[in-house]
Amino acid sequence: MDSEMDGAERYDYDLIVIGGGSGGMACAKESAMQGAKVALFDFVKPSTQGTKWGLGGTCVNVGCVPKKLMHYGALLGGKLHHDAAKYGWQVGKDVKHDWATLVQTVQNHVKSLNFSYRSGLRVANVTYINALAKFTSPHHITYTLKGKEPTTVSGHYFLIATGGRPQIPPESEVPGALELSITSDDIFSLKRPPGKTLVVGASYIALECAGFLTELGFPVTVAVRSILLRGFDRQCSEKVGEMMFNLGTRFKMQVTPKRMSKTPDGQVEVAFSNGDVEAFDTVLYATGRHADTKGLGLDKAGLKTAANGKFECVHEQTNVPHIFAVGDVLFGKPELTPVAIQAGEILARRLFAQSEARMDYENVPTTIFTPFEYGCVGISEEIAIERYGENDIETYLFEFMPLELAAAHREKHPQACTSEMDVDLPPPCLAKLVCVSSLGERVMGFHYVGQNAGEMTQGFALAVRLGAKKHDFDTLVGIHPTDAESFTAMTVTRGSGESWVATGGCG
Ligand code: FAD
Ligand code: NDP
Repeated sequence: MDSEMDGAERYDYDLIVIGGGSGGMACAKESAMQGAKVALFDFVKPSTQGTKWGLGGTCVNVGCVPKKLMHYGALLGGKLHHDAAKYGWQVGKDVKHDWATLVQTVQNHVKSLNFSYRSGLRVANVTYINALAKFTSPHHITYTLKGKEPTTVSGHYFLIATGGRPQIPPESEVPGALELSITSDDIFSLKRPPGKTLVVGASYIALECAGFLTELGFPVTVAVRSILLRGFDRQCSEKVGEMMFNLGTRFKMQVTPKRMSKTPDGQVEVAFSNGDVEAFDTVLYATGRHADTKGLGLDKAGLKTAANGKFECVHEQTNVPHIFAVGDVLFGKPELTPVAIQAGEILARRLFAQSEARMDYENVPTTIFTPFEYGCVGISEEIAIERYGENDIETYLFEFMPLELAAAHREKHPQACTSEMDVDLPPPCLAKLVCVSSLGERVMGFHYVGQNAGEMTQGFALAVRLGAKKHDFDTLVGIHPTDAESFTAMTVTRGSGESWVATGGCG
């Protein structure tokens, strides 16, 4: 990597970062810490519904952070409604939720983070410019501050970390959708309670939003075009869907909206591909995100992107050697905050601290924060079979009811009950290890659906990255009583034909 700084003096900055989200912030601060002169541009274009936010990018403002807080709020509701009375809390059946208070709490916290990001840049000695940046040459950026004339600055290196934005089908595809729908850019600061909600999409964002809205008590329908959680382990994805259904989320399978219009009483009437017509108070599109690279003046810098607007990089380097990219604008890489942060920091050290370290995009753990979370690291059972052949794969399974929920006799949502007898929540937790026999049962896939899957997966991911084998899991002493200890005592394989559903006892 070219880390010589001699030519840099000709430029205003050693590094110009475009985008003050997870990746941009991390790279800017680390570069400045290594002694580079750094400027960071961040500017938020309003959402399709006009929502705006502050410094810090998607994660802090309209992603991970507000999502996790709403998830927590929703889990509290689940515990209040289902378990609290059984544990002696006199909460009564009519415990109510106030959406405005939730939004206030979430937004207050987000604003405090905006503030700390701003002061973090100042302390790190990074020049923060709150404007849209645009290339005018391979080494020049132009921007315009409110009420001022356009200004141009030059840089030796550049980092593009402009992230992505939600996509809603255009008017020509689904008339009314663009005007009448909201996205994840809007939900976390929505002024009114969402009410009866249609969520379109079936991946991370759709299921997480549907999950917390359901647990907050709103009637939620998910319109699924094909399958839940494409790319994830099928059995676990279906378990996520089954548990969401049991908690009250409705699913419309193999269905998409075709048209939307406003009803006289302000609802959105949706005509679906299967002929159904239904009115909702809110329609939330979560059908993927596009890279936010269109307005960057890429041609002026000689930059090329793939058809979806993302950069096909080799070790974060674009086709223009002094211009780099990290985060959600990278082609074929996980769109996750810690991935953007780590890639940004490692790049900074390569550029300014003679490091040769490279970002490792393999075995990145992740969690979908549905009411029963789904965490995983490594590959799915399907990919393992494809890669190693069915005869070389041993899959260990264990399905169980957590101790606390078993004691509270958790019940299904009435909508999910088929009869008066069919009220008990089935075991919500599924532990799964996908092992390769010819590699001494090395664990190639760790999957867990259940409470606190994010916390659990983070720890076990280290073992998987270090090449742990099934035997290592077996010799690990459990922490009792936890859900995580189930991974230390898995004996039933899919091939054995035995049931992997726990019949009782502890755990
Ligand atoms: P971003 O964080 O998107 O930042 C890009 C910034 O650049 C933005 O502020 C943008 O306004 C700005 N910008 C764009 N163009 C310009 C320009 N021309 N000039 C100046 N500024 C510009 N990831 C997880 O790991 N865990 C989660 O739980 C999680 N939950 C999520 C929930 C939701 C609802 C969403 C939408 C995402 C979630 N993600 C999660 C993904 C995570 O937020 C992203 O992967 C991460 O934010 C990407 O960081 P980034 O640096 O690439 O871009
Ligand atoms: P994804 O790209 O992961 O999924 C898009 C979903 O929308 C799929 O279910 C897809 O269905 C469906 N879809 C696409 N187009 C249409 C359409 N026209 N009509 C109906 N359905 C459609 O997007 P997300 O928005 O969920 O997430 C983006 C990224 O953000 C994720 O990949 C993830 O990396 C990150 N993220 C991470 C989170 C976490 O770490 N917990 C949380 C949220 C986001 P089909 O399968 O049929 O293509």
